[in-house]
Amino acid sequence: MELFADIIVDISCKKLDQTFQYRIPETLKSSLEPGNVVEIPFGRGNRMTKGYVLRITDYPSCPLEKMKWIEAVATDFAGTDSKLTALALWMRDYYGCTAVQALRTVLPFRQKAAVKEKRTVTLQVSHQEAQQKLELFRHKHQAARARLLEALLEDPMLPYEVVTGSLKITPSVLRALEQQKLISCEHEQVYRRPELLQNLGTSAQDRVILNYEQQEIVDAIESEWEEKEIASYLIHGVTGSGKTAVYMELIARTVARGKQAILLIPEISLTYQNVLRFYHRFGDRISVLHSRLSQAERYDQFERARQGDIDVMIGPRSALFTPFQKLGMIIVDEEHETSYKSEQVPRYHARETARKRAVLEGAKLVLGSATPSLEAYYEAQMGESRLFTLKERAAGGMLPEVITADMREELKAGNRSVFSRILTEKIGERLKRGEQVMLFLNRRGYAGFVSCRSCGHVMKCPHCDVSLSLHQGRRLVCHYCGYEEPAVGKCPTCGSPFIGGFKVGTQQVVELVQQVFPNARILRMDADTTKGKDGHAELLRAFAQRDADILVGTQMIVKGHDFPLVTLVGILAADLSLNMSDYEAAERTFQLLTQAAGRAGRGKMPGEVVIQTYEPEHYAVACAAAQDYDSFYEQEMRYRQLAGYPPLGDMMTIHCASEQEQQLGLAVTYLAKFVRQLVGRRGVTVIGPADETVSKVNDVYRKAMYLKHADFKVLTSVKNIVEQYVEMNEGFKDISVQFERR
Ligand code: ADP
Ligand code: ZN
Ligand code: ZN
Repeated sequence: MELFADIIVDISCKKLDQTFQYRIPETLKSSLEPGNVVEIPFGRGNRMTKGYVLRITDYPSCPLEKMKWIEAVATDFAGTDSKLTALALWMRDYYGCTAVQALRTVLPFRQKAAVKEKRTVTLQVSHQEAQQKLELFRHKHQAARARLLEALLEDPMLPYEVVTGSLKITPSVLRALEQQKLISCEHEQVYRRPELLQNLGTSAQDRVILNYEQQEIVDAIESEWEEKEIASYLIHGVTGSGKTAVYMELIARTVARGKQAILLIPEISLTYQNVLRFYHRFGDRISVLHSRLSQAERYDQFERARQGDIDVMIGPRSALFTPFQKLGMIIVDEEHETSYKSEQVPRYHARETARKRAVLEGAKLVLGSATPSLEAYYEAQMGESRLFTLKERAAGGMLPEVITADMREELKAGNRSVFSRILTEKIGERLKRGEQVMLFLNRRGYAGFVSCRSCGHVMKCPHCDVSLSLHQGRRLVCHYCGYEEPAVGKCPTCGSPFIGGFKVGTQQVVELVQQVFPNARILRMDADTTKGKDGHAELLRAFAQRDADILVGTQMIVKGHDFPLVTLVGILAADLSLNMSDYEAAERTFQLLTQAAGRAGRGKMPGEVVIQTYEPEHYAVACAAAQDYDSFYEQEMRYRQLAGYPPLGDMMTIHCASEQEQQLGLAVTYLAKFVRQLVGRRGVTVIGPADETVSKVNDVYRKAMYLKHADFKVLTSVKNIVEQYVEMNEGFKDISVQFERR
């Protein structure tokens, strides 16, 4: 039986998901697989081109005599590219996007920006022979040729720019001399180096002696290296416990085995200082990706990896696709960070995708966090990965002491300020002692939930256990199910009139602190003050140099530098994020509070943390205050279990968007009806449709539906049918429909 391959040729066109069918020669029949990169004749001139095999079938889509043959499996870097293509195909199936969208994410292609090249012209014959030729050229009055030879006799290797520039030699003369084998023109690609890595002086090796706990992790992974081809690990280490030192040692051992390593870190911790630590250990063998690199610079870094020019790639989620030839390890630092989830199609999660790549490559996967995601911790509990714990701060120093301030009590005592009495008192103490303070304003989930300042009551949806959002026209709306009710004037629980949205920004916090402490020097850090290219780093540097006493900021200040003089961290409105209309609200809150608290007392002096809250009894707040991850995990898992949320159940979101509001409304109503009928007997819970949290962006209206089931495979099968429904249905012509896991 003859077999055929559906092949994608050009991934440079975003919209086109066009495949071409090719015949598979007998010799490749048994070995060819989807994901393979092949050489194929393409176009009228039958130019040899690379193609990606998507599917193998036994039915031809056109007459055989018209169909071309696959020439061969591509050999240069084909192993790497085939694995990356296979990864892309997995992403297509898992996250629901087109093959082209996935391939473009995984295999960045060369954009028009020319590759920077260093070109040289070198003399290829002996001095004596060149002299003879020079005489000949002079004799024949071939001035240009003579001029070039004269110059090359002085310096046998000249930059191309000099030859064509000041020597005024034309390309045709060069070609003629090249044909006579007198000279050769060589091209050498010069890869751009990312800015972070330029002008890094070399200094003493930044090498610590691992402590007992750290060494145990390295030894354990080392001992399993050969016996387990695929292995994954989770390092749960408190802030400052020396996870980075462990990563470095693991990377060094990977490189010593002739393999390469990828270290993913959130963009925000991609600071000069952090990169410097790796540079001192691995020198030129590392490269960095970050958001300020141009397309061409990114491409160059990937090319360096492909050519074996580097061993270690550090960067945010896109660094995961570095085309190393022998990938030995992927490390995901701060694996709980939300920035690992792509907001663009394909909406992949770097942690999940890293796991898949590790499996495809036979590489080790190491996850690290002070506050592991429930998914990662659950996997460890289920024995799918091995858990290590680092309980102590590596450089000595104690974990900070945490005080909870109940803001309901403050109001009762007549304090209507944003600051509790204890926080005000402690700020005053620090200013007197010349120590530094960080004030962290939790603004996640700021989207207008309504709460009572007397009793902490939050207006919630009666159907969904998420908070209602305040919309224009004083309506309270549920973003999960669309439930609506009018806004209230007094608290339904205690009758207090102090009920409303929480509206304080960092600017106001700064003003309020200044009123109480007129002499304090205050810096503010949020999206507004860090717009410039290095705004973020500059502010942190200024604070580190003690240009200010108090740093006020949003979640941005939770990450990054160590400030040894910070002995007090104040967390304002700790529970704001508890009321996000999202099932992960408690997890996000716990992570934010724990990480923010971890900023205090990083130096020799002990630190204190004040958590201001309206819900001190909520387990996310209480466990963060007690710095008790295990107890948080246990309680949160109970909630997830009851509600059927990940990681215990699976969830899929169907995002629908359109500029036509009415059409969108109609289409999602039909879609919901169709889906409900479809899943009727499969035990899938359907929630929605409802407006998305942000219901309109750039005049595009957005609605969503959520499907829940214990088994993601069931949701995937639903997705495939829904996709067909959408494709065939005229009503969806102007509506974009996307699927997202979770
Ligand atoms: P994490 O990544 O867990 O937050 P780091 O690796 O950044 O922790 O380490 C925190 C601090 O402890 C750093 O200043 C680091 O140099 C120091 N440190 C790490 N390991 C050791 C060690 N074994 N001995 C002494 N200091 C260490
Ligand atoms: Zn109340
Ligand atoms: Zn609801």
